[in-house]
Amino acid sequence: MAIHRVKGTYDVLPTESAKWQALEEKVRALFRQYHIREMRTPIMEYSGVFHRQNDRSDMVTKETYDFKDRSHRDLTLRPEGTAGIIRSYVEHKLYASQELEKVYYIGPNFRYERPQKGRYRQFYQFGVEAIGATDPALDAEMIMLAYDLFSSLGLKGVKIRINSLGNDASRATYQNALIKHLLPHRDTLCDDCKERLDKNPLRILDCKIDQAHPGILSAPTPVDYLDEPSMTYFNAVQSYLDDADIDYELAPRLVRGLDYYSHTVFEIEADIKGFGAQNVLGGGGRYQSLVKELDGPDISGIGFACGMERILDALALEGISLDDNDKLDAYIIAFGNNTKKVASTLLHNLRKAGLSADMNYTNKSFKAQLKQALRDHASYLVILGENEIKQGVAGIKHTMTQQQETVDLSEVVNYLQKRSK
Ligand code: AMP
Repeated sequence: MAIHRVKGTYDVLPTESAKWQALEEKVRALFRQYHIREMRTPIMEYSGVFHRQNDRSDMVTKETYDFKDRSHRDLTLRPEGTAGIIRSYVEHKLYASQELEKVYYIGPNFRYERPQKGRYRQFYQFGVEAIGATDPALDAEMIMLAYDLFSSLGLKGVKIRINSLGNDASRATYQNALIKHLLPHRDTLCDDCKERLDKNPLRILDCKIDQAHPGILSAPTPVDYLDEPSMTYFNAVQSYLDDADIDYELAPRLVRGLDYYSHTVFEIEADIKGFGAQNVLGGGGRYQSLVKELDGPDISGIGFACGMERILDALALEGISLDDNDKLDAYIIAFGNNTKKVASTLLHNLRKAGLSADMNYTNKSFKAQLKQALRDHASYLVILGENEIKQGVAGIKHTMTQQQETVDLSEVVNYLQKRSK
């Protein structure tokens, strides 16, 4: 069998990793501003963390990578970030020391989905969880964070859509009303929706196949069934957002895929020409029962997660490059006999002085090495030929201005350090 990557996965090649790092750095910097600390949990968990009785979502019932380890324990590769974070939050009793814990995570998730553009079987998400308080101001803060995130990336074609599912009581009343409305349409729904009608009826509202189904178009929406406290809560979230001048739109049919949401749910959608069908960049909402389901106290949280592949696609389509720092301060071009030894020491000294520098060890011609230096976006070329070595100097050329100077070998580090600040 030929050796190649697993279906639905991809490799980040050296030419592409800088944009990943740049995105990650941007995200981390914003989380620092919001005083949200990172949490790192394992990629594998005991299956029970995800396979909970109350979660009937497609993701959990059809898409998880489940396996037995060599001691026959049931394990699952995490399909999403929240459950593992909550498992850890409960296990370490973080609620005992901190009334409201705000954390973020960045890492890979695994779902056995049908691969296509913007949908992979291993994909990266960053996400945030604020656990321990139920307050519309906190819901608004999370939406503001999402808004700031996409603004700070410079993305213009992004929409934040929000909705409310209300408290448990409102949600249950709505669910019954929805089932009652859809039952007469059962036979004409797609196969998935027929199944969802029994297991996860809310999910029918955002079925891609049945989008134009008259029964779904005429279905009641969750907001129609909010009781008074739920309505007050939702209105408060909106007024916080309005006061902060956050651009958002109401999306009455937005329900989100997972089963555990209540009150506020939201999604960040790409509205960019040429973007594929998978245009949801991120989403999240408030969860009421999850902490309890994972053996914790009866407290709620709110969080959201964003897909990094899709954000990178959106940035590329809008022509935004975050990785301007992916350049070298200096590239040493050593050619001819007996130049490598001097070059090697100089290279080490440049790096010790805090500069980014590289050279090529293949004894290629000056021209070939120059090409490499330009490909690596070097700001300066340090040219070491046999003549230079004899005279104890190096030629230093600024690649942008094309200006060249001859500098004493002992002064090269100093010279470049001054100019690379
Ligand atoms: P979810 O955890 O399903 O709410 O997804 C949150 C975000 O993660 C989505 O909006 C996507 O941007 C991203 N995402 C989810 N599933 C995939 C996938 N299979 N491949 C790539 N990105 C994904």
